[in-house]
Amino acid sequence: MIEVSGIVQGVGFRPYVFRLSKRLQLSGFVKNNSDGVLIEIEGDENSANQFIDILSNQPPPLAQILNKKVTDIPPTREPGFHITKSDSRQKKNTLISPDIATCEDCLQEMRDPTDRRYLYPFINCTNCGPRYTIISDIPYDRSKTSMAGFSLCPRCQTEYDDPMDRRFHAQPNACSVCGPTLKFIGEDHLETSENPLELLLKALKEGQIAAIKGVGGFHLAADARNQAAVKVLRERKHRFEKPLALMVKDIQTISTIAFLNEETIIQLSNLHRPIVLCKKRDSNGIAGEIAPDNDYFGIMLPYSPLHEMIFQQGNLDVLVMTSANISEEPICFEDTECITRMKNIADCYLLHNRDIYIRCDDSVMHIFKNKPFFIRRSRGYGPRPVILSREGISVLAVGGHLKNTVCLTRENLAFLSQHIGDLENLQTLHVFEQTIDHLQTLFEVKPEYIVHDLHPEYMSTKWVEEETTVPHRSIQHHYAHILSVMAEFGIEKDIIGIALDGAGFGEDRAIWGGEVLLCNLHTYKRLAYFDYLPMPGGEKSIIEPWRMAVSYLLKYFENGSDLAVSFFGNKSFSINIIEQMIEKRLNTPMTSSCGRLFDAVAAILGLRTTVAYEGQAAVILESIAEKTTSDFLNIGKIEIVPENGHWILDPNEIMHNIVKYKINGKPLANISRAFHNALIDVFLRLVHILREQIDTDVIALSGGCFQNMRLLTGLYQQLEQRGFRVFTNKEVPVNDGGISLGQAYWGMHNCGKKA
Ligand code: ZN
Ligand code: ZN
Ligand code: FE
Repeated sequence: MIEVSGIVQGVGFRPYVFRLSKRLQLSGFVKNNSDGVLIEIEGDENSANQFIDILSNQPPPLAQILNKKVTDIPPTREPGFHITKSDSRQKKNTLISPDIATCEDCLQEMRDPTDRRYLYPFINCTNCGPRYTIISDIPYDRSKTSMAGFSLCPRCQTEYDDPMDRRFHAQPNACSVCGPTLKFIGEDHLETSENPLELLLKALKEGQIAAIKGVGGFHLAADARNQAAVKVLRERKHRFEKPLALMVKDIQTISTIAFLNEETIIQLSNLHRPIVLCKKRDSNGIAGEIAPDNDYFGIMLPYSPLHEMIFQQGNLDVLVMTSANISEEPICFEDTECITRMKNIADCYLLHNRDIYIRCDDSVMHIFKNKPFFIRRSRGYGPRPVILSREGISVLAVGGHLKNTVCLTRENLAFLSQHIGDLENLQTLHVFEQTIDHLQTLFEVKPEYIVHDLHPEYMSTKWVEEETTVPHRSIQHHYAHILSVMAEFGIEKDIIGIALDGAGFGEDRAIWGGEVLLCNLHTYKRLAYFDYLPMPGGEKSIIEPWRMAVSYLLKYFENGSDLAVSFFGNKSFSINIIEQMIEKRLNTPMTSSCGRLFDAVAAILGLRTTVAYEGQAAVILESIAEKTTSDFLNIGKIEIVPENGHWILDPNEIMHNIVKYKINGKPLANISRAFHNALIDVFLRLVHILREQIDTDVIALSGGCFQNMRLLTGLYQQLEQRGFRVFTNKEVPVNDGGISLGQAYWGMHNCGKKA
């Protein structure tokens, strides 16, 4: 008897076992159960061993075996090999596959005029198609998916029943006779199932905005080569300047608009089909509105049969495909909901009747050191667990405030949710609650503890305190960032964590964000941080970087006020107010945020005084550094000053040089490079000092600022060159999308024990 657990359901595991046993002339059976898959084989010992060997080393492509237990049982002498019915037992230990892009076999059938699924937009098989987003409960059987309402036609049923068929027990199996269908709603609000795709393509070609139902929710689509259409989309969606994702016909087309290398091609075309950030080509023919001030396009390839058909049937090769939502609200995933919420944005709709049960935005990644580097881990990856080095108690971690994700643990597995969004409105809070419920149902875990952020005002903190009865503990934001790296690499002992970030609530109630922490699995100590300075207007300064610039000028310059007026003259009235706010400490928390330092520098350099989204000024600052290759400018050092048992990082000298160079008209690209170098340099000097005091050579880098590739690459490489062992996140984002994993890791090993 062989018991296998992991991602073994809905990935063609049973037909694979069936075919393998036939080949090796073994008898017995295979079935799904709530722990995974149960196999009994009987026959020649050699063949049986071979069976186990092949199963372990060459499982089906989508399967992920986490555990395998082999036991000897008495023979039954029953002939033949069978696939038997699943039993749904109490405990649910199985895992669920993420949604997978259409496989090559299915694509070929879809393009073949003689195939019965020619141009059928819901073609799939056991090797591909939707999974997580159509499941309401486990075990993974058709009756527990949104395909339950479609009964298989005789031909589909035959495939479904035939163990030798690629669609054997493919739960979403369907064809145009028995399966889901498309419909189109046009500008005239009329609904039709006649040539819906043709109508969609015509509308897009005319520059209309279409809401297209996808795998994890709706996209808003527009022709990316049509400047006017993209502009209209931005205005209606209230999404200004933040880059819009593109879906591009094929790799060949991508290579005409962006630079590709081996690794970006691998990631773009893998089964998970994430959005990959690819460096733009100069003359790319894409509307400038897509990603202004940014060196990268976020690009994905088509991942559903419907997407494939959109590109094959029409003459559009690059589409904007952005989540159907308004500013930061959750993505739409139900037809009626979409029509109501998108009525002022979309001109037309392409809908279908295969329901989405779980919304799931597209995943986004950068490439770092030739490996994926997640900006958002969502569709195609969730709910695949992060596998931890050892077991702990079950906890629920509710994440941060922005880019929220939650994380539920069971044994040594951490189930990180898909991207939920910014917990700033009730709709998102609702999705947050739904996601927690759903994870608990699918993995049948009731957490013993909940871990949340230290911030008392976070919606997630309030939810834990007001809506749950489970005991809970809080941990500091930047400690959680570092813990997320520790979780991924199984680190438990003392390490130096460098958390460079936007904002997180500190133990002293200040806004932390430029922190060097000594961390272990149980506790942390703050070693160093950026010199505190006022953040006039609190949150407001995040979208108004000039406020931080004024704050820096006032702090470090005797004539700060005059300088502020000379840089932001048109705001002189407000500068006055800011001075008073700082003086009277009105709505002016103190901060050590590295993100805000980036903002201030960008504002002083005149790149941006206000931004459309958090971190935009830093993105622009990073981007202009690429415009030169010379590092001739010396802007001095960020000083390291001992103070009350901490090291304070004091940017006084570099601020003076930045201001001087700006006034003297030095090239901004060089100033930006020098600024990045100074940041890298201060941490190199700091860890050199720390190495004398602390017995560790392990360093973890995390926090949103490390999405800046210049900073990350520079610091990582130079730390490595100096003999440190350096780690950063690989499976979860360095931004706040990853902190639920850090919280969970801490909770698993500390909650329930005496502090
Ligand atoms: Zn397929
Ligand atoms: Zn059918
Ligand atoms: Fe953070």
